[in-house]
Amino acid sequence: MVTERPPRPPRAESREVVELKQLKGAQPELAAAVDMQLALVDMQRRVQARVPLPWIQADPDWVRSQQAAGRPLVRFADVPLEWSDFRLIFRQTADILLRYETLERSDHQKIVALARQGNALEPLVKNWYDNTSGVAGPDEARSRAVGEAPAGLDQVLLLALRPFLARCAEALTQRTDFSMWTHGHCPFCGWEPDFAVITPTADRRLICGRCLGQWIFPSLACPFCSNDERTLITSFATRDGRYRVYACDVCRRYLKAYDARHALRPVMVAVDSIATLPLDAAAIQRGYVG
Ligand SMILES: [Zn+2]
Ligand SMILES: [Zn+2]
Repeated sequence: MVTERPPRPPRAESREVVELKQLKGAQPELAAAVDMQLALVDMQRRVQARVPLPWIQADPDWVRSQQAAGRPLVRFADVPLEWSDFRLIFRQTADILLRYETLERSDHQKIVALARQGNALEPLVKNWYDNTSGVAGPDEARSRAVGEAPAGLDQVLLLALRPFLARCAEALTQRTDFSMWTHGHCPFCGWEPDFAVITPTADRRLICGRCLGQWIFPSLACPFCSNDERTLITSFATRDGRYRVYACDVCRRYLKAYDARHALRPVMVAVDSIATLPLDAAAIQRGYVG
């Protein structure tokens, strides 16, 4: 007997998409930022669904020595990169940033050309990751793209690598103990935190700006410099208590956090980073830098 396949139902909107659309309704001044985020989230979700969870083989002694030296664990060879998928997301990310005027047209052209030039992209991505992760060595290697790189290339690389690196962080979170990690940079990929969450037990978990991996870090210490003098950390919250800023009076950098202690939902970086754009303005007005 031949059964007819039922028509495929429209894909349900993710919780993030629902929340972003609500945010746009409540704060129309954030509409452009929300629309760009919706485009990025949709693309990243499609790619990430195709990325397999990697099986990262790492010798336990090597893991211990990396952690003791403050070096992250994801080597470039561990990243489950499928180059045709990567080229696609690299190019589409650049297109989205151009459409929302986050990238200049001339930089967009140079970036898109990189994706088209035979094998130029693969070594560029590998070098960029090696130079910014610090997996292999000295911290001073943690520099951004160098030379005559078009402006915005860092951001495009970061967003395009995210679905692949996020899978690595997911795989390692399940199997590795990070409780000894005391550093301000990411134990998975070495990047800086870009957001944080205050857990119901009042711990602060930092969230990596590249792979979205999370790790615990003292609430009143600065992840960007070694300042742990609590009188030199300025902290202020939004009126509804939902979000908080921690700013360092030594290096002048700040980090935003979602306060999950009395919240109805868990942190959603894609939503909360946009919902807190007014907080960035407040922090910058007080003389801090992001
Ligand atoms: Zn990371
Ligand atoms: Zn600092």
